[in-house]
Amino acid sequence: MTSPLFSDQLLAWFDLHGRKHLPWQQQPSSYHVWLSEIMLQQTQVSTVIPYYQRFTAKFNDIKSLATAPVDEVLALWTGLGYYARARNLHKAAVMICNDFNGHMPTNIDDLIALPGIGRSTAGAIMTLAHQQKFAILDGNVKRVLARYFAIDGWPGKKSVENTLWQLAESLLPEQRIANYIQAQMDLGATVCTRSKPLCHQCPLSKQCQAFQQAKQTSYPTPKPKKEIPTRQVHWLIAQSNNDKILLHQRPAHGIWGGLWSFPECEAKHELCNITADLQLEQLNSISLDEIKHTFSHFKLVISPHLIQCKQQTSYIAENKNLSWYKISDALKLGLPAPVKKVIQSIQ
Ligand code: SF4
Repeated sequence: MTSPLFSDQLLAWFDLHGRKHLPWQQQPSSYHVWLSEIMLQQTQVSTVIPYYQRFTAKFNDIKSLATAPVDEVLALWTGLGYYARARNLHKAAVMICNDFNGHMPTNIDDLIALPGIGRSTAGAIMTLAHQQKFAILDGNVKRVLARYFAIDGWPGKKSVENTLWQLAESLLPEQRIANYIQAQMDLGATVCTRSKPLCHQCPLSKQCQAFQQAKQTSYPTPKPKKEIPTRQVHWLIAQSNNDKILLHQRPAHGIWGGLWSFPECEAKHELCNITADLQLEQLNSISLDEIKHTFSHFKLVISPHLIQCKQQTSYIAENKNLSWYKISDALKLGLPAPVKKVIQSIQ
């Protein structure tokens, strides 16, 4: 199916209402498009902008990113969430330096082979940075297409996703591909929004099947609901008498991979074992307010326990995943948002 009408209407709308002043649009190099696309996954533009600006002030090209310690990259990502994105970004930058002489690949298959770059992100890089004809299928585009064609079924299901890809590809215009792709993203973000689409401002409303049937919010079909489990952890926040705190670097994989957090255990009585293992001489202990944090697949309930202790220990000096930090230095590390909040509260 080709529908010049769809792309013509979208491009005409883009000329009047599209976003043309986003920071990453000012330097549409493949590196800047890539970085912005990764930051924008699951995250709104207004949240991303300050992170993007801080990140590019420090790492303005692939080489500077690849040669930085991953800790520095994670520190700039603190608060943005989904930290695997930052680790993959760093890993891919190293691979680009090693295998592509520091230049972002210009072939879609090479892009998709890099960590963290899926078909849609690769399509965005190929169109926005290189003006090549490729489709994208991010959350915004899925929503617009599912409504426009009244596609039943959750887009996370392979068969539905395949249908949406076919439609996305069939609608691509011959001209102005970068503007068209940007227009799709902009329409989804500003007009065809999740809960209250502004159909009366939409250039596609005459042909949009969901609008014609007054069933806009029935599309896309939501993900089948699954009860998400709750996990409980206890954090041991050791503060030494010379005002340092003890932090533990989490393993590279799993939640908050590679970020600095507090030693933790699942049951309260295990706190004594941790204190003993770490050879901490405890002076007193205070239980802080519980913290709740929701991940996509479970809820975490955190009980933080602040203990004041007498001195630093040689055990910790010998263990490279544990370190005492002055509070001001700790706040410069890659930290999960709840850890940062706790450190700020005891500052
Ligand atoms: S008419 Fe409404 S539902 Fe259809 S694409 Fe436009 S904003 Fe979305």
